[in-house]
Amino acid sequence: MSHRELLKDGSFLWLKSRLAEYYRKAQLELPENLSSREFAVQPLGSQSYIRHLSFKSEEELRRYITNNPPLHLYYSSAIYLFPEIKEMDQKGYLGSELIFDIDVDELQECRLMEQLHVCLDCGHSMYGNKVKKCIKCGSQNVVEASPVPDDCLKKGVETAKHLSDILKRDFGFEEVKIYFSGNRGFHVRPKCSEECMKLTGEDRREIVDYIKGIGLDLNRIAGFERDESLVPSSDEPGWRGRIGRAIYEKLGIRSGSSITWAEAKKRIGVEGVKALISSLVLDIDEKVTVDVHRLIRIPGSINGKLGLPVVRLEEPILDSYSIRCELSPFKEKVLVKMNATIIDKTIMGVKISAYRGEKIELPGCIAFPFVLKGIAEVG
Ligand SMILES: [Zn+2]
Repeated sequence: MSHRELLKDGSFLWLKSRLAEYYRKAQLELPENLSSREFAVQPLGSQSYIRHLSFKSEEELRRYITNNPPLHLYYSSAIYLFPEIKEMDQKGYLGSELIFDIDVDELQECRLMEQLHVCLDCGHSMYGNKVKKCIKCGSQNVVEASPVPDDCLKKGVETAKHLSDILKRDFGFEEVKIYFSGNRGFHVRPKCSEECMKLTGEDRREIVDYIKGIGLDLNRIAGFERDESLVPSSDEPGWRGRIGRAIYEKLGIRSGSSITWAEAKKRIGVEGVKALISSLVLDIDEKVTVDVHRLIRIPGSINGKLGLPVVRLEEPILDSYSIRCELSPFKEKVLVKMNATIIDKTIMGVKISAYRGEKIELPGCIAFPFVLKGIAEVG
């Protein structure tokens, strides 16, 4: 069954009108080489993508997305001579941006994070990690009803900042932008020079391996097993400096002073040192970085999973970022019929209490993802 059939007419029209209104005025952050990019959309009510679109100008793109408001909107990380050609080997590949993706639910500490889920068959709501089956009726028609919890979002921000730091310090990128993907991810995008655009998939894999610390030999790189040697200084480049900073920070030692590995092991323990160092390894999605033909969500577009826009995060809001109603462009309240019972739950900062079948007014920020997922319907 298509998504269109799942959404009752009133719901479909409401979502469509919200998206169309949004895209009439949306501030999309578009690249200078817009006409060399492939664009792709997932239309509202469809489960598949329309790919290989190409636009000559922002106006042309805007006309398209206002007439056919997409649920998801992407452009290619790559630039092509012929972005509209379907066969990848005939597109005339010219190079690709370097993109990093951090998925919050893939972070070590957040793999078991709990979210509110609801069963669309019986209306039962329950907390859990990636719930696939209703605990009350056994149905597999279960969807997420709350966004990523704040502490996991915070972990995502920390990882993104850490990655940005590595890209600047160790790879010499002058500008690195961090974006919230509008649902549960972060995109980290260094400003890619001509040389960077030409990196092969293999080059990109090496960069990912370096960041993930794959093949990192602690003894060779930092003399970990030679007790008399010094813990690397905080201001050294690369992994040595990163290891040094973590140890000295943990021990509250100011930069300038140094200690031996024997001393560090005595104070933190061998396992403690190892754990500290493994916490420096970043969980990034290597598929995204290695694939030079990747499609990226356009900054300023709506992520149709949660209904929030992709936004650039800068200091100082970066540290206090949390998923709240204020981030949503959908402000107006709307009358919906609930398909689930949710009692006394706070979602995106809004308190919700309603029974299945009850008609209530919901703020647009909640109504959008609820209606999209079938948790509520309009009309
Ligand atoms: Zn159920």
